[in-house]
Amino acid sequence: MLFERRLFCFMRTPFIAGNWKLNKTIEQAQSFAREFAPLVQDAEAVQVALFPVFTALSALKSALGDTKIEVGGQDFYWKDSGAYTGEVSLPLLKDAGASVVLLGHSERRGRFGVPEPDLEGEAGRVFGDSDHSVNKKLLAALNTTITPIVCVGETLTERENGHTDVVVENQIVMALEEVDATQISRVVFAYEPVWAIGTGQTCDAQEANRVCGIVRATVATKFGSSAGDAVRIQYGGSVKPESARELLSLEHIDGALVGGASLKADSFAAIVRAAL
Ligand code: PEP
Repeated sequence: MLFERRLFCFMRTPFIAGNWKLNKTIEQAQSFAREFAPLVQDAEAVQVALFPVFTALSALKSALGDTKIEVGGQDFYWKDSGAYTGEVSLPLLKDAGASVVLLGHSERRGRFGVPEPDLEGEAGRVFGDSDHSVNKKLLAALNTTITPIVCVGETLTERENGHTDVVVENQIVMALEEVDATQISRVVFAYEPVWAIGTGQTCDAQEANRVCGIVRATVATKFGSSAGDAVRIQYGGSVKPESARELLSLEHIDGALVGGASLKADSFAAIVRAAL
């Protein structure tokens, strides 16, 4: 099956990303790097990135030394500097060693751009990012050399109401407003059904592949079929070493965005190796 996928997608480098969310001290991040790097040193065909808390970014980058493992920011503000208390910018992330960023993660989004603190503790949308702010962040990232990973995905209610496809399509269309044809090849998408994040409930692999196919088709509609064929799409939502190989063997899934299972070096390494 993996061979079939490779025939389809020979030009799309697999991309496995580990989102540590609000976890790991500097010391824990450094110790992860020491354990993890040797486990994936022969996985050069796979792009690998870790997203620590901001305070550990620079130390993690140094601990990874001259490996090809990248580090990134879990979020950022689109302005470079100024009176924006509590924010971090793309130039500052770059200064700390980041070459990738996440944007629009469901935990950063809020319904109608309004934070939903009552959902804290669930796989909820806590901080109030809107499709509009995701778009501003994407345009800002595309003005740098940093690779943006745009997260999209439906809530359980949206899925139960049969709105999955339209929700995902709309999130992509709005994220890509004013993005031009020369920039689209730099954008990576992560399809992350909100109900599957941190719940242990992985989306059925065929269904995940189908929705990733919608992401690809939406890019193709805006930028043409070669852009659609080339765009890289990760699946995220309770990916584990046991589920990774099947997910990564499918036509439209080029990688994984991993939360919980990226916190342990051996399980994250097993997911990276499933992409080989
Ligand atoms: C995530 O944080 O993007 C994620 C998918 O988390 P988990 O793997 O824990 O569901």
